[in-house]
Amino acid sequence: MQVYDVVIIGAGHNGLVCATYLLKAGYSVLVLEKHSVPGGGATTIEAMPKEAPGFKFNLCAIDHEFIHLGPVVSELELSKYGLEYLFCDPVVFCPHPSGKYFLGHRSIEKTCAEIACHHSADAERYREFMNFWQHVLQSMIPIFNASPKSIIDIAGNYDIHKLKSLFSLLSSTSKALDFVRTLLSSSEDVLNEWFESEFLKAPLARLASELGAPPSQKMLAIGAIMMAMRHNPGMARPRGGTGALVQALLNLIHKLGGQVLTEQTVEKILIDNGRAVGVRVGNGTEYRAKHGVISNIDAQRLFSLVDPGDIDTADPDLRERLDSRIINNNESILKIDCALSEPPRFEHYQHQDQYLIGSVLIADSIKQVEIAHTDPSVGKIPDSDPSCYAVVPTMLDPTMAPDGKHTLWIEFFAPYQIENAEGTGLKGTGWTEELKNKVADRVIDKLADYAPNLKRSIMARRVESPAELGERLSVLKGNYYHIDMSLEQMVFFRPLPELANYRTPIAGLFLTGAGTHPGGSISGMPGRNCARAFLQTQRPVAQSLRDAQDFFNQRVSQVFGGQV
Ligand SMILES: Cc1cc2nc3c(=O)[nH]c(=O)nc-3n(C[C@H](O)[C@H](O)[C@H](O)COP(=O)(O)OP(=O)(O)OC[C@H]3O[C@@H](n4cnc5c(N)ncnc54)[C@H](O)[C@@H]3O)c2cc1C
Repeated sequence: MQVYDVVIIGAGHNGLVCATYLLKAGYSVLVLEKHSVPGGGATTIEAMPKEAPGFKFNLCAIDHEFIHLGPVVSELELSKYGLEYLFCDPVVFCPHPSGKYFLGHRSIEKTCAEIACHHSADAERYREFMNFWQHVLQSMIPIFNASPKSIIDIAGNYDIHKLKSLFSLLSSTSKALDFVRTLLSSSEDVLNEWFESEFLKAPLARLASELGAPPSQKMLAIGAIMMAMRHNPGMARPRGGTGALVQALLNLIHKLGGQVLTEQTVEKILIDNGRAVGVRVGNGTEYRAKHGVISNIDAQRLFSLVDPGDIDTADPDLRERLDSRIINNNESILKIDCALSEPPRFEHYQHQDQYLIGSVLIADSIKQVEIAHTDPSVGKIPDSDPSCYAVVPTMLDPTMAPDGKHTLWIEFFAPYQIENAEGTGLKGTGWTEELKNKVADRVIDKLADYAPNLKRSIMARRVESPAELGERLSVLKGNYYHIDMSLEQMVFFRPLPELANYRTPIAGLFLTGAGTHPGGSISGMPGRNCARAFLQTQRPVAQSLRDAQDFFNQRVSQVFGGQV
């Protein structure tokens, strides 16, 4: 039997980030991955080797913003292991049926100048709006980069710059109340309060709704940070695709002596005397973990691998709470990838190639974006007038396709379970080959209304239904954020209050990944935070107290000494 200090279930980017921090701290680590390619939602592969050889596709994540809000890339020195980030500028283009368009640059000033071509008052408001959300974002970064229940860690992450942002939001009672009121409202409410033009509000609503809820969803006005992040810290893509981030992590793990085994599905968590001591994989092999088992899969799936009796002994209420308290709505993604002979041309919008550097949004109105989310929630496919998010990654990174050729990445929100189709199609969801292709045709028709050369440029295409995506990622209901990103499941509620600090009631069993704080997307934060939480459990209390004291001394001298 093979013995390691730590065994990690799943080689998603969070599992790999967690592994590197533990290896650096001197632990021996084994990562077990179900699929043949590590990376989970962060893979880049030649997805159509026969029809489109040499074309590389990001099957899931493409635009990286959150990872630049934390120290993972710099602390792990990932550039030394092959990672190079290419920053997008412009960051977003959204053509509007009126002939106007929104072109967001990395610079707020340049973006305001673009908006001013169509609406000068909205351009002025945009500067103020982004200033406000930048302060919100800066104030939240310390919370993202710490265990949610660890006040000391969170406080320690505030430097003078972030404290100033926080004070600017809370400097008077009326400001603080306005701030709370804003957070309680929806992105639609906030956009209507600030702006008049639909060509601007619709793409901002579309980006805000990337959290997985319609613009009208109360208490999710925070979605506005999705555009704020594109200005600062910016939006970037690894050269070679998202998989290059995973490859850099693998290079580092191998250098540090860690092991990643693919095609190893963990089927059982081994518990001995109430403590997690290892795992068993599909072929019956057992791997022992001396110090801990860490899960990159969500809590519901993790505990389905633990004997019910062991869960009940640790916490008699947990199984019931996992079943009834963790929410996954019905929204997932239908993913379309195409190999193109030429890039799309937005002829009716004085086409410029720079439109294709960032994300291209089809968002004609807030109402269209609303339906893109509310239809899936009741099992309907919002394809009568599709809103979508498209990227031509090869405009920024030509290495991802043969010379002169391009790729197209399209994300279309769709239901996991189709209404009135229960029990049919893949996994009983109603999704069939015919249906997914019919929906993809409609999405491409819509995009072609704006870029008329699109259809004749498609050399090959791959369509993945939500049911297939759910199978590929092994996530429940096709939820690539593992569990919903709704407020009642964020911060110290993610995934449940008793599991929120990356620990579980079973000794030696830890949780990381998108289903833990601060949530889904490419950030590496759950992986890093979990590694820190694990290390804290391994250290004597006296050492932790000494660290906390050093930390406070350092912060006090920074704040009062005026250093950053
Ligand atoms: C179409 C699409 C587009 C997206 N676009 C973006 C984007 O542009 N930007 C962004 O930031 N985010 C994006 N996301 C979200 C992002 O991809 C995910 O939130 C993120 O990859 C989650 O990472 P993770 O490491 O927490 O989990 P995962 O990537 O889900 O990794 C979990 C790993 O565990 C493995 N596993 C599961 N069960 C077992 C088992 N029993 N034994 C062993 N291994 C197991 C899985 O195979 C997987 O490799 C997108 C997602 C999708 C689907």
